[in-house]
Amino acid sequence: MNTQVAIIGAGPSGLLLGQLLARSGIANVVIEQRSADYVLGRIRAGVLEQVTVDLLDQAGVGARMHAEGLPHDGVELCFNGRSHRIDLHGLTGKRVMVYGQTEVTRDLMDARGAAGLPTVYEADEVSVHGFDGTRPTVRWTKDGVPHELQCEFIAGCDGFHGVCRASVPAEAIALHEKVYPFGWLGVLSDVPPVNHELIYVNHERGFALCSQRSLTRSRYYVQCSLDDHAENWSDDAFWDELKRRLPAETAARLVTGPSIEKSIAPLRSFVAEPLRFGRLFLAGDAGHIVPPTGAKGLNLAASDVGYLWQGLTDYYRSGNPVGIDHYSTRALARIWKAERFSWSMTTLMHKFPDTGSFGQKMQMAELDYLFSSRAAMTALAENYVGLPMD
Ligand SMILES: Cc1cc2nc3c(=O)[nH]c(=O)nc-3n(C[C@H](O)[C@H](O)[C@H](O)COP(=O)(O)OP(=O)(O)OC[C@H]3O[C@@H](n4cnc5c(N)ncnc54)[C@H](O)[C@@H]3O)c2cc1C
Repeated sequence: MNTQVAIIGAGPSGLLLGQLLARSGIANVVIEQRSADYVLGRIRAGVLEQVTVDLLDQAGVGARMHAEGLPHDGVELCFNGRSHRIDLHGLTGKRVMVYGQTEVTRDLMDARGAAGLPTVYEADEVSVHGFDGTRPTVRWTKDGVPHELQCEFIAGCDGFHGVCRASVPAEAIALHEKVYPFGWLGVLSDVPPVNHELIYVNHERGFALCSQRSLTRSRYYVQCSLDDHAENWSDDAFWDELKRRLPAETAARLVTGPSIEKSIAPLRSFVAEPLRFGRLFLAGDAGHIVPPTGAKGLNLAASDVGYLWQGLTDYYRSGNPVGIDHYSTRALARIWKAERFSWSMTTLMHKFPDTGSFGQKMQMAELDYLFSSRAAMTALAENYVGLPMD
């Protein structure tokens, strides 16, 4: 088998890159270790920046998102039992789109299938070779049969635990990491959201988030300890804990129901530098992780893909290598700003085990300042809706 770009991983970054490259006439094959159903079953992100919406439109997969997605003009932050709204649209002229990662993935899979683009699911023992030379290869086995794909470039879109970053020699890559001392217990439930916009809560019992996927499907989270297990939490226990952390009038209108998914996600900040190694590029979670507090993970995956698509398109159209040469620098400049924002939102809104009374006072002072200063609210809003792709 031969292709121009081999894409490892059929998550949002791999599928979006494949779709954009195909529209630029660049041949690509996606190789994914899991089944399509497994990939579609993962419940993850749900808030899209305008940059991501634009890229999905450019990929030709935006129709259902515009029909079914929910544009949000603001978010609420609660502390000391009171809610304060950040008017995202009023402060920045931009809004965010609530549309689940599962739906984005489904739209991309459907488009890829309809275009007849090659995708290998359930590929075992995927490995990448020769990316420091001119003719890289990807090898895998499927149903016990070995396969090899020759290509010109490899896009490592295989997530945090993928094979691509792990194949880079240790001396060629720098890893920056911060692991937070808590996780998020998340519940997905087919109940109407408690509020028409997202609510972030700083509470003495810990952080809580009221998010949503549609007008009938809600996603709620409470901060939990890292050694906790989702099985320890009955649905009733989860709803009781969430209500304790919400302002009284919000808790009173919370509609509860059976969970359709319940899981604990650890929180981590992580960046690998650089993101290019010869003919191998890392994009999305393969290169970086943010704690979900700023809703940036999926959006950063999309902007990486946008830079890579632009670079590869220039290279294949005119032989101009500037875009791929600068991919890592351009993507990392945006990544570090999103890392900073996600870290600062996490620090502002969570209860840290070693915070002490001084740390709590600092959080309250910062939140107080935020809501007394249009400049501070604008800075938060500008980052929340997403910085431009420079
Ligand atoms: C539990 C959880 C909750 C999250 N919640 C949020 C949220 O609320 N908001 C937010 O913004 N972000 C959230 N994120 C982050 C967001 O989902 C990711 O940033 C996004 O999925 C990144 O997309 P990706 O395509 O780069 O990586 P992934 O979605 O991880 O996709 C990588 C793909 O590569 C495949 N793969 C892995 N290894 C191999 C291999 N060796 N060979 C072939 N294929 C391989 C995987 O099976 C997977 O399909 C969450 C992430 C997790 C894990």
